[in-house]
Amino acid sequence: MELTYTADEEAFRLRIRDWIAKNQPQSEGRPGTEELRRWQRRLQEAGLLGAAWPKEHGGGALTAMEQAILNEEFARADAPPPLGFMGISWVGPAILRFGTEEQKRRFVPPLLAGDDVWATGYSEPNAGSDLYNTQTRAVREGDEYVINGQKVWTSLAHVSNWYFLLVRTSSEGHKVAGLSVLLVPLDTPGIEIRPTQMITGGSEFSEVFLQNVRVPVDSILGEEGQGYDVVSSALINERSGIASGIRFDRSLAELIETARATNSASDPVWRQRVADLAIRTKIMNAIGLRVLSDQLHDRFNPHTSAAMKCIATSLTQAFSETGVEMMGAYGVLYDATGEGTEGETTGPWSQRFLMDRAMTIAGGTSEIQRNIVAERVLGLPRR
Ligand SMILES: Cc1cc2nc3c(=O)[nH]c(=O)nc-3n(C[C@H](O)[C@H](O)[C@H](O)COP(=O)(O)OP(=O)(O)OC[C@H]3O[C@@H](n4cnc5c(N)ncnc54)[C@H](O)[C@@H]3O)c2cc1C
Repeated sequence: MELTYTADEEAFRLRIRDWIAKNQPQSEGRPGTEELRRWQRRLQEAGLLGAAWPKEHGGGALTAMEQAILNEEFARADAPPPLGFMGISWVGPAILRFGTEEQKRRFVPPLLAGDDVWATGYSEPNAGSDLYNTQTRAVREGDEYVINGQKVWTSLAHVSNWYFLLVRTSSEGHKVAGLSVLLVPLDTPGIEIRPTQMITGGSEFSEVFLQNVRVPVDSILGEEGQGYDVVSSALINERSGIASGIRFDRSLAELIETARATNSASDPVWRQRVADLAIRTKIMNAIGLRVLSDQLHDRFNPHTSAAMKCIATSLTQAFSETGVEMMGAYGVLYDATGEGTEGETTGPWSQRFLMDRAMTIAGGTSEIQRNIVAERVLGLPRR
């Protein structure tokens, strides 16, 4: 086993590092929507988006190793994800896998360029973990589907223009057999988006109401009844995306900085907690290398994403909890004044602490990830 990079890979790394330093958003605080869209365009023009996708669909056609180096360098520079990261990481791959040639040509280039931003609509008031219970209906009338229902927790609906929508097209047979995915413009008459205020002060997700929404029948992705397969493939990418998007080395460096700034570095209790997180960071990095090795050797282990998501999201919570506690009373200050901004009184860990609570729920809860591991990896019986 050789865990070093070749000279060519190291040269690629230096080129990428230099490019990121010159091109990443320079705004104070978190960048806003338009800044993230411009960042996405620069990435696209440089061939760094959809890096592992075929070139004919606008991908950068990088190798899996180059993609991994790219991710490491983004993490090192603390570069933000592009505006349409959900489309790039999970909707785009599903369109490439299940879409017609016409759909690939129509949807993939604007998705990469940041002209189209995608939101995903699976969850409903009575269908979150249990997507089999999806109630939003799409009834075929001539050349159209007519959609009625309600979605909840749609991330980034307020900045998106397309909707990757899970609907029920049939009530016959097993519940799962009646599910389909439709690709729906979010400005179609009959769609109402109501943002939900989060504990962070932002409104990054919304309830979406659909009333007599009409779309052409060729809006379907894959076949009628194939919706669960389509969504499962997107969810596998979402879970890997959530897990690999968490930047533990950076969190560790920041926690050590906080420990020094608060005179906690020589306190035996804090030292134990920081060292424990350092050990768990090393374990996560080693698992990351294992996943990379699987990719490089075409060993497809779809359910690794469930285990990775579970461990990574719990660890990120442990970091932000430790950071907030270490800061004492200052740690809980949080002042959000608008999109992409945090007030001057915000402590360095508070926003992360609030947002990290959601990470063990988004993309499927930890309990559901453990069920997937129990059933599909360990072969235990289903309850
Ligand atoms: C930050 C964030 C972003 C999100 N973005 C989106 C989005 O863009 N699009 C979208 O469609 N949804 C989105 N969601 C919704 C998310 O997918 C759901 O919240 C999640 O799937 C859980 O569903 P639920 O909230 O209905 O909880 P429920 O399914 O009602 O679960 C409630 C509790 O019961 C547990 N539970 C349920 N079933 C089982 C079981 N079989 N075994 C053991 N325990 C179980 C769960 O783990 C949970 O603790 C987002 C959520 C968050 C937090």
